[in-house]
Amino acid sequence: MPRKRVSKVKQKAKGDEPEEKKVKREHVTVQDEGEAKPETKSPGWIPENWPQTYENIKMMMEGVVAPLESMPWYIENDPLNTKPEERFRILVALMLSSQTKDEQTLKVWNELCADGLSIEWVLAKSDAELSKCIPVNFRNTKSSNIRKVATILKENYNGDTPDNAKDLIDLPGVGPKMAYLFLQSCYKKSDGLGVDVHMHRLANRLGWVQKSTKDAEKTRVALESWLSKDLIYEFNRLIPRFGQMKCTADKPKCKECLNNLICPSAGK
Ligand code: SF4
Repeated sequence: MPRKRVSKVKQKAKGDEPEEKKVKREHVTVQDEGEAKPETKSPGWIPENWPQTYENIKMMMEGVVAPLESMPWYIENDPLNTKPEERFRILVALMLSSQTKDEQTLKVWNELCADGLSIEWVLAKSDAELSKCIPVNFRNTKSSNIRKVATILKENYNGDTPDNAKDLIDLPGVGPKMAYLFLQSCYKKSDGLGVDVHMHRLANRLGWVQKSTKDAEKTRVALESWLSKDLIYEFNRLIPRFGQMKCTADKPKCKECLNNLICPSAGK
C-alpha cells in the first residue's frame, strides 16, 4: 500500500547533464490502490482511440517480463524500509543510466555496490578515480556530477535524498525523468512521467502527442496535458516495457500487435 510522504527541503545547484531540467509543477499524486482506469484529465485534446490502445497494451504485456524490470529504480522500495544509503545508490543508478544501455548500467552499478558505493565512498575518490570506476557513456561528466551530488546530499540533506521533484532536479545531472522515476521507486510518489526513449518513441508513434515532439521533456509535458494523474504510476511502468519488448525501435512487432488496426504507425 503506497504511503504519502511530503517534506520541504531546499537546495540549489547547477548541472551539466544534457537532460532538460525545467519543471514548474507542484502537484503531488500518490498512487491509489487498485487498478487505474484509462481516463483523461480534462475535455481538451485527447488522442483518438487512446483508451482502447492502452487497454490493448496492458493485455499484450500481461505476464511479459522485460529487462527493464531488473533495473534498481524499477524495483519498488518501501520508503519506511529503504535506508538513505540505498536511496543514494538508486539515484546513482539513474545518473549512470542516461544514454547508456540498461545492461551496462546494471553491470557497473552492481560492481559499484559490491565495492561499497555510498556518499563517503564517492567523496573519497577524485573525479578521475571515480570516472575509471564507471565505464558508461559520458563517464567524466557523470563522475563529476555524482561527486557534486554526494557533497550536496552530505552537506544539505544530512546524507539523505530529496523527496520532491523540484529539489531532485536542482541536483547536478538529475533531470525530470530521473527525478520522477526516483520518487516513484523510493518514496512511492507518482508525481510525473519518467519519459525514457521508449515512452518518447511510443507517444509519437501512437499519436499520443498532438504534434510530434523532438525530445523527452516536450513529450512529458504533452502527455501530462491529457493523461489522468491516477494513471502516471502504471504508465511509468507499462509503456517502457511495451517499448522494450513489442513496439521496439527497430522492427516493431506490428503484425502481432493488438493495436495494428488503430495505430497510425502500424507497418511503417
Ligand atoms: S502497431 Fe506497430 S507501431 Fe503501432 S503500437 Fe503496435 S507495434 Fe507499435
